[in-house]
Amino acid sequence: MKVKVVKFGGSSLADAEHFRQVASIVKADSARRYVVPSAPGKRFKDDTKITDMLYTCYEMVRKHENIDEYYSKICDRYNGIIKELGLDFDISGELDYVKRSMQQHSGRDYAASRGEYLNGLILAKYLKYDFIDAENVIFFKENGTFDEEKTNEVLGRELLQHKQAVIPGFYGVMPNGTIKTFSRGGSDITGSIVARAAEADLYENWTDVSGFMMADPRIIEAPASIETITYSELRELSYMGATVLHEDAIFPVRYAGIPINIKNTNSPADRGTMIVAEASDYDAEKVITGIAGKKGFSVISIEKDMMNSEIGFGRKVLEVLEDHEISFEHLPSGIDTMSIVVNSSSLDGIRDKIISSINRAVRPDSISIEDGLALIAIVGRGMVKARGTAARVFDAISNAYVNIRMIDQGSSERSIIVGIEEHDFNKALKAIYDEFVK
Ligand code: ASP
Repeated sequence: MKVKVVKFGGSSLADAEHFRQVASIVKADSARRYVVPSAPGKRFKDDTKITDMLYTCYEMVRKHENIDEYYSKICDRYNGIIKELGLDFDISGELDYVKRSMQQHSGRDYAASRGEYLNGLILAKYLKYDFIDAENVIFFKENGTFDEEKTNEVLGRELLQHKQAVIPGFYGVMPNGTIKTFSRGGSDITGSIVARAAEADLYENWTDVSGFMMADPRIIEAPASIETITYSELRELSYMGATVLHEDAIFPVRYAGIPINIKNTNSPADRGTMIVAEASDYDAEKVITGIAGKKGFSVISIEKDMMNSEIGFGRKVLEVLEDHEISFEHLPSGIDTMSIVVNSSSLDGIRDKIISSINRAVRPDSISIEDGLALIAIVGRGMVKARGTAARVFDAISNAYVNIRMIDQGSSERSIIVGIEEHDFNKALKAIYDEFVK
């Protein structure tokens, strides 16, 4: 029998109507045995997510403010869902307990995690699935990092005891028994962890869009969607700012070779995006899979005659960055020049120190820092086989009268990265999109 792990995001569980949709999706396929919910999200644009309300409660308690009225709004949302679903379930004891624990300063992560916990209780009741508290099966280590091995073993064993179960997302437990959450959006990670432990055939991640778009819809109007993407391509695009799935959610399933399907709760028949280890069914027409970009980069440019023959030059420069805990993004170099692209924010307050340390380390002829660089990554497994892709990228950009400041093509030939002035960002992105997709 196939096993699918299904994760539903906050917008998919924002109200009773969405709970009904979720239940019909789960019940439509008996393989959907393990369900990971987020906390209720926004019902409308200016609504507040339950998670954010819980963080607010935590802050109020910290400032010794009374949370009675504010917390009652959280209770109203959960009670409203239960009532509208017609569930015979009294959650008031749980709600009181959570409130009291928060008032007794049980921590920021504890407060935030209760959004998923309470939602999980309701969803389990509604689906008639067992409830497995993440606190008993998702473990963190003393240093706060996720304990992969212990979790996989304990959770794997636990899942075998349940034909069907709901496991709330976002949190787990520290060795001392306190609750710890992943970073925001972390229910995606829980879903991936559960999929690995269940040795699932598929991890379905249900959200409010029909998968990934080839480019940011805020810049490109109604961009095409991505049908199939590999884990590595997704890493490149997410790093460059494409968001839908939490970055860290890829690792557990990638390790186990389980594909992820991004699906739309509001439009379940849509195919969505499949994320796979290798795309064998790759469509030869498609040279690129997606385009993404980010602003806010700076270039440190260093010049020195005969740099090319000076052994250890690069190492000494990079050592300066390392000493200041700066990671670099790209390192395009010429014979007598070396440029280092870094996140501008990493230079805050230490620009002069960096320049003087590099001066001391390698005595360059000149050194400068220039801000205002944007990077665009053109990503696609199809590039390896398609001759002339770089030429098409550069042509498209130059035809849009945009000047390219930097070029970097990884040896994997999976991506081409161009650096341009920030003010040219939208123009360049559109030009590339039009060249390859339109
Ligand atoms: N509810 C948490 C958040 O808002 C986790 C999640 O939804 O994945 O970040």
